[in-house]
Amino acid sequence: MTAPATEAARNNRGSHPGGRSPEELRELVSHWGAELELAPAEVIIEWAAATFGDRFCVTSSMADAVLADLASKVVPGIDVVFLDTGYHFAETIGTRDAVEATMDVNLVNVTPEQSVAEQDAEYGKDLFRRDPDLCCALRKVAPLRDALAGYDAWATGLRRAETHNRVIAPVVGWDAKKAKVKVSPLARWTDQQVDDYIRDNGVLVNPLTYDGYPSIGCAPCTRRVAPGEDPRSGRWAGTNKTECGIHS
Ligand code: SF4
Repeated sequence: MTAPATEAARNNRGSHPGGRSPEELRELVSHWGAELELAPAEVIIEWAAATFGDRFCVTSSMADAVLADLASKVVPGIDVVFLDTGYHFAETIGTRDAVEATMDVNLVNVTPEQSVAEQDAEYGKDLFRRDPDLCCALRKVAPLRDALAGYDAWATGLRRAETHNRVIAPVVGWDAKKAKVKVSPLARWTDQQVDDYIRDNGVLVNPLTYDGYPSIGCAPCTRRVAPGEDPRSGRWAGTNKTECGIHS
């Protein structure tokens, strides 16, 4: 990370009010995807901020605040989007609130169109038990799609080490469903790199991660995992579902 590039990232914020066409965005992906494959996470974030201005945001599940921390240092005041499904653990909401209170970010709290009570009234109580795909579509996929309408590019904390089907997560890729550039600055990070960054920078971590929850989603669909189990095996346990749909 170099100072001039960081300055460029800050100065360019807000310089693309109308956004780019999908063709222009895809062109950027095809050029910069390979160029940035081996770049440090800070440089990838710097590039995205300088390229997309305020049409670039970071998303966070609030399992930890590594990506938000990195992004806030490169681009103070950056938008950090959190999907508030209405089903989160209290610890996750607490982590969100702590991020907002202690980091130089603009926390964007995104809620579904319906409250949990309204969803229960229309679809029946506990839709997540009967049709988790529909529940995720209503409470995660659609709200994120709507929230990203004002952006050209979004950053995720996806890492290739997390699960087999994330192995191909590109550092800079094309999200065809959303017609957005999808940036994964941590794609190449190992678990050890994450742990080291958290330790060295005193980064906020959801306390559940130290209580048997290496992967944290909505409370009804997340259980503790035993030591040595696949870290994501606690998500939608007992079903074939492994992803909520926002990354597919
Ligand atoms: Fe619903 Fe569970 Fe998906 Fe959360 S993770 S949106 S509760 S199905």
